[in-house]
Amino acid sequence: MLQKTSPYMRQANLIGGEWVQADSGATIDVVNPATGVKLGTVPKSGRAETRRAIEAADAAFATWKKSSVLERHKLLRKLHDAIMDNQQTLAELLTMEQGKSLTEAKGEVAISAAYILWFAEEGRRTYGDVVPSPWVDRRVIVTKEPTGVVAAITPWNFPSSMLARKIGPALAAGCTAVVKPASQTPYSGLAWGALAEEAGFPKGVINIVTGAAGEIGDEICANPLVKKITFTGSTEVGKILLQKAASTVKKVSMELGGNAPFLVFDDADVRRAVEGAIVAKYRNSGQTCVCTNRFFVQAGIYDEFVEKLAEATAKLKVGPGLEEGTQQGPLIDMRAVEKVEELVGDATAQGGKVVTGGRRHALGGSFFEPTVIAEATPSMRFMREEIFGPVAPVFRFETEEEAIRLANDTEYGLACYFYTGDLGRAFRVMEGLKYGMVGVNEGLITTVEAPFGGVKESGLGREGGHQGIDDYLDTKYVCIGGLGL
Ligand code: NAP
Repeated sequence: MLQKTSPYMRQANLIGGEWVQADSGATIDVVNPATGVKLGTVPKSGRAETRRAIEAADAAFATWKKSSVLERHKLLRKLHDAIMDNQQTLAELLTMEQGKSLTEAKGEVAISAAYILWFAEEGRRTYGDVVPSPWVDRRVIVTKEPTGVVAAITPWNFPSSMLARKIGPALAAGCTAVVKPASQTPYSGLAWGALAEEAGFPKGVINIVTGAAGEIGDEICANPLVKKITFTGSTEVGKILLQKAASTVKKVSMELGGNAPFLVFDDADVRRAVEGAIVAKYRNSGQTCVCTNRFFVQAGIYDEFVEKLAEATAKLKVGPGLEEGTQQGPLIDMRAVEKVEELVGDATAQGGKVVTGGRRHALGGSFFEPTVIAEATPSMRFMREEIFGPVAPVFRFETEEEAIRLANDTEYGLACYFYTGDLGRAFRVMEGLKYGMVGVNEGLITTVEAPFGGVKESGLGREGGHQGIDDYLDTKYVCIGGLGL
């Protein structure tokens, strides 16, 4: 069965605790990328609905900020339990709107729950300081307070977990939220509203608005009640939001695009490197910000690596995400397929060799064959552009210095990976790579306990880890004088 019904599939905005349609009654269709069949609709909202959602969040903030950390902790734990109790149902909904395999969708739902649990705990540890005073009769205290109304905008590739990393710390810190999920995958975002109701969060603490991205974004940026914007998506849209948010000087966190390099040195364990390469490249059909975009392999093991990678790639089972055994779902839409095709065409025109895949999949629609391209060169578009599809270009290098230079030759700096058996080299390369996250002999490194985020044009701020709650807190310095000591 490729389509199921879900109690969590809400086709309305959540504003101040009410599930409502857009003022105009206009809607957006949501389509299952595996079948092209319409799943349902969501409201096509604009500025007015967003303003009301912000006002509802602001009204709720007045009481939510005064709730005790223990109360928030308990509610977040209930939210965690509600997610895990419904893991299968939520995963099916995710697969239906996004396309990824049910196994991956269940994993995403589980990590969403894990982020909520992590921040339930971290919320109790937002310590301030008592600073040794330079004055005899004054005392110096530093406290942490919730920032206020947070607006969260998220992409379609991880429609559940990208929100978990924002909702978790926001609510734990005592902030309230206005959420705008991606239009192609809004149901996993709206499900957060239903889950929060189930867990017992007060009305208005979480508000969710779907619709016209530009209008919603404009209201979020211009409205002085919004104190922080947290965005995950493309660098292009991130730059627009940064510019617009400047008009009201909001706090911003930006999780933007990536162009991850994956370096394999002659001294690496090739079998392990290929295993890591498969997960670092083909997870979510290559549609993740931390997916390997460029493989750089040292000349001595180049042929062996390409052969083994192609062999493992050709074995990946492509199919609808809800079908048993599927490892690779469809791409999100036909535009994504066309882009991948263009990049493959650009590479082959410049001498790239398709070792496996390279074409639209026989299943039709937006399915694409998992692909390996050998003899990639820096003049190919892969070098600069996010592929966001199941294509692995493999470049050849001779020296460590050259590998580091090529890996860093991008405006992005999110995740990178490298494989070596030499400890000294591991440290040299790790220190030489200008990235926010580094996998050494590992191809899958995301975990709630560690700070996720990038440098350069990959963004600002960190999500997860103990750092992930900082952006939702304001620091207040209090000087208490006249103590007569
Ligand atoms: P996108 O086009 O930037 O869209 C992301 C979100 O922004 C969507 O909700 C979109 O709404 C909204 N949006 C678009 N234009 C807007 C505007 N002018 N004002 C306000 N909001 C606006 O990105 P995407 O294609 O969905 O996602 C893929 C990108 O996300 C890739 O670049 C990927 O690397 C990046 N990403 C980064 C991370 C990270 O943690 N660093 C994680 C995942 C993905 P609509 O859907 O309604 O257009």
